[in-house]
Amino acid sequence: MFDTLSERLGGVFDRLRGRGALTEEDVNEALREVRVALIEADVALPVARSFVKKVKERAVGREVLKSVTPGQQVVKIVHDVLVETLGGGEGDHELNLNRPAPVPILMVGLQGSGKTTSTAKIALRLQKAEKKKVLMASLDTRRPAAMEQLAVLGEQAGVKTLPIVKGQSAVQIAKRAMEAAKLQGFDVVMLDTAGRLSIDEQLMAEVQEIHRTTDPAETLLVLDALTGQDAVQTAERFKERVPVTGVVLTRLDGDGRGGAALSMREVTGAPIKFAGVGEKIDALDVFDPERMAGRILGMGDIVGLVEKAAQEIDQEKAEKAAKRMAKGEFDLDDLADQFVQMRKMGGMGAIMGMMPGMGKFKEAAEQGMGSKELARQEAIIRSMTKKERKNPKIMNASRKKRVAAGAGVQVHDVNRLLKSYQAMSTLMKKMGKGGKRGMAAQLGQ
Ligand code: GDP
Repeated sequence: MFDTLSERLGGVFDRLRGRGALTEEDVNEALREVRVALIEADVALPVARSFVKKVKERAVGREVLKSVTPGQQVVKIVHDVLVETLGGGEGDHELNLNRPAPVPILMVGLQGSGKTTSTAKIALRLQKAEKKKVLMASLDTRRPAAMEQLAVLGEQAGVKTLPIVKGQSAVQIAKRAMEAAKLQGFDVVMLDTAGRLSIDEQLMAEVQEIHRTTDPAETLLVLDALTGQDAVQTAERFKERVPVTGVVLTRLDGDGRGGAALSMREVTGAPIKFAGVGEKIDALDVFDPERMAGRILGMGDIVGLVEKAAQEIDQEKAEKAAKRMAKGEFDLDDLADQFVQMRKMGGMGAIMGMMPGMGKFKEAAEQGMGSKELARQEAIIRSMTKKERKNPKIMNASRKKRVAAGAGVQVHDVNRLLKSYQAMSTLMKKMGKGGKRGMAAQLGQ
């Protein structure tokens, strides 16, 4: 399943370490895995295909970062494209209420999708967060229970509902709601249309008619995330008949992987505006593409790791150090630079913690090469003269004593550092070419 996408990619890309740039072949292989994983997460096939194409365009030729694996880098690209696909433009997730009051919002969707609950949730949110005066009206003329339900929810939430008048058609109720709102100074009118268990012509015609007569500022389609591909088909059918301006995705508190969200965004062309995250009246979040992408990928914090690496690591310096290392010219200044880079990433412990499956080594790594320890080692090197850093061999007893005092450590700490430098320097020479990718990379992978 999706949890292992990062592991799969890890496997595919392990072989690619040390290459300069991601080639088309490398990327193709990884993307086969991505496509399978997307389909497993309930993303429709054509959507998965077009998604993978986007990732490919972005990934091929991309320079390989030194401190993360190419696999991790592709995961990051997958994540970014996910966020963009789910996200749309700036302000896309807001309700568009720029109209003279009362502003109608039409709620459409299948029965059981959470339409009535979402109507009340959004109304409450508008009242609370935006200080809007909201009127709700149920247009479900066939199910008196649905009207009652909205009235009960309205009472719970402290949101007014239109008094129920028997015998009126849905369009008549909608008109009455708009008139009442105008007279009584409401800002927003939420119209909860009738649902059906499945789409039928009569329902669609009714929704269309209501849309035409009320001309809503927003037409929000409510979809149940747990129904996956069915919800995508529902979205397709509704979109044929009414111009959907936004999606409310409910039951995101359940354990659906949420891949359907991606399909919905593509199919409706409308942004997902809200996420239903529970039965309670305040269990509604503004849709967050970042969080959703994380959920779809389900893979620890590789994304954060790559972002950090890209931000913090000074590529040029690393490049230079790598060249010198390969030639066996690695000195204490280079070592100090490596420490700085690792510390910027939060120390070995933090790096381990971000890697899938490595969490258990986090503590051990933290003790040996945590931020504090790194800072200490750096301090020792900084207390040396330039000459000593370039040529550590000249470190005699009195020099060591001076350096220890300067760094606030014991002489044996200085000895330890010099010893590990020696070991590392020998290793670097041995590895020759292998030293290219920088120490952070060697240790971090
Ligand atoms: P409608 O027929 O589309 O109006 O659906 P309802 O609003 O009556 O919701 C059907 C059921 O789903 C109710 O029991 C709601 O409490 C529940 N529900 C609605 N939204 C969510 C949600 O986001 N999470 C969870 N767990 N339950 C929800």
